[in-house]
Order: sequence, then structure tokens, then C-alpha cells
Amino acid sequence: MANEFPQTLTIAGTDSGGGAGVMADLKTMQERNVFGTAVIVAVTAQNTLGVQDFMALPQKLIDEQFASLAADLKIRACKTGMLADASHVHGVVENLKKFDFGPLTVDPVMIAKGGAALLADDAVETVREELIPLADVLTPNLPEAERLTGMTIADETDMEAAAVALQDLGAKNIVIKGGHGDAKVARDFVLLMDGRSFWLEAPRVETVRTHGTGDTLSSCITAELAKGQDFETAIRIAKKFVTAAIVHPIAVGNGHGPLNHWA
Ligand code: PLP
Repeated sequence: MANEFPQTLTIAGTDSGGGAGVMADLKTMQERNVFGTAVIVAVTAQNTLGVQDFMALPQKLIDEQFASLAADLKIRACKTGMLADASHVHGVVENLKKFDFGPLTVDPVMIAKGGAALLADDAVETVREELIPLADVLTPNLPEAERLTGMTIADETDMEAAAVALQDLGAKNIVIKGGHGDAKVARDFVLLMDGRSFWLEAPRVETVRTHGTGDTLSSCITAELAKGQDFETAIRIAKKFVTAAIVHPIAVGNGHGPLNHWA
């Protein structure tokens, strides 16, 4: 029998505008030559101008999506994105404990760039206590790292300290994305589970077309892990993929446009 094609899973919310969430994840997985599947947690009404509305699905239907995949497919790596609220975070955690879907990358999505809250305020504690201990890779941006650690991150020394604090919460490998800072280069700090650390650099690009950047990074890491890459290699490949997708923008929509996944 032929070797099974690498299969991946995103557990997240949709973006009707196609730029972020499950849509960005599946496009990234396709470009990285893995087979993408999805457990939909929430549906958003969204375009490049913002999130107009969203609703989380009933937990029963989410549980059934997990069970359908577990009964048939061989998922080698998975990721979480928008999880909406505390009860859905908890429900997803229960499923992740029940099934083996390979290494888990957690993108702790909280607030969309347009300001919409994609995670209820009171769910941050559930993410911290239940989901983060399961994370093989955790990819917060600066505001998310601050919320999760309770620290103020003012400089790169603070980023290093926050990564250690996030490891103390139970996540194995940490990528703190510096893109929300205002320095000329967007530096991300990586702390691996063996204690090694390094900075990833990319030039800061003046563009509004960065919608779905976090989703693309975390789903690219997931794709590379499914192919058998080690954590460091997967993270380095994902950073390059996202940088190329930002540097060569495509014109879609009138607002905060999507990345170019073909770049
Ligand atoms: N919508 C969904 C469903 C998402 O998962 C995300 C990000 O993770 C966003 C919107 C926000 O994307 P951005 O902050 O890049 O606009």
C-alpha cells in the first residue's frame, strides 16, 4: 500500500472573505503540499473591512466533526485558531485529549486586526489553563502574549521573558510574533523546548494586506510538521512562507486584504 499522504487538521473559525481563519489555513496547507481537513468551531460573516458577525457552532456538531475525522483519516499534525468562547475551548480540549492528531500548534487568536473579539474575554483563562499545556507549538502575537502572561512587553528582553513564562504554562515550543511592534524589522522570538532560542527576522513591509498572517504562519508550521520536519525547521520555513506572502501582495477587497499564498 502506498504511504499515506500527509494529512493535517485546522480547528478554527471560517472567514467568508477567504483571507483568514480556516480558509487561509486550507490554502496554506494546499500550497505546502499536504492534505487539509477542518473542524469548524465558528462561522464569521467577514470581509477585508472587518468582522460583521459570528456564531459558534453547537458543541455536539463540533464533537461529531472530530469523531468523523478520527474514524477515517490519519491526521499527522493539527492546529487551533479562533475558538470563540470558554465552553468551546473546553470542548475542543476534550477532543484533543481523546484523539491523537499529532503535534498541536496553538494560535491563541483573540482579537482581529479590525478590533473584533474572536475569543470572549473570560475564555483567556481556559486557553491558559487547559489548551496551552497541550501545545507543541504556541504562536502568540505581542498583545496575545501579554494577555496570556499578564506581563507588559516593551522590548526584546521582555519578549524573551514572556516566552519563558509561556513555557512555564506548559507549551513546548514558543514563537512570539513581533509584527505588532513598531520597529523597522519584524523580529519574532523562538524558544524551543530544549532551551535553545533564536530570533527570526524579516523586513517590515508597509502594507495593509496582512489579513490572516497568524493563521498562515501556524498552518504552515502544521503542514511542515505533518511532513516530518523538526520544530525548528518547520518554524523557519513558515516564517519564510509568510514573509513572501506579505512582500508580494495581491489586490483583493477594499480594506485589510489577504496574503498572497502563491508567492
Ligand atoms: N477571522 C478568523 C476566523 C480568524 O481566525 C482570524 C485570525 O486568526 C481573523 C479573522 C483575524 O485575522 P487578522 O487579525 O489577520 O485580521
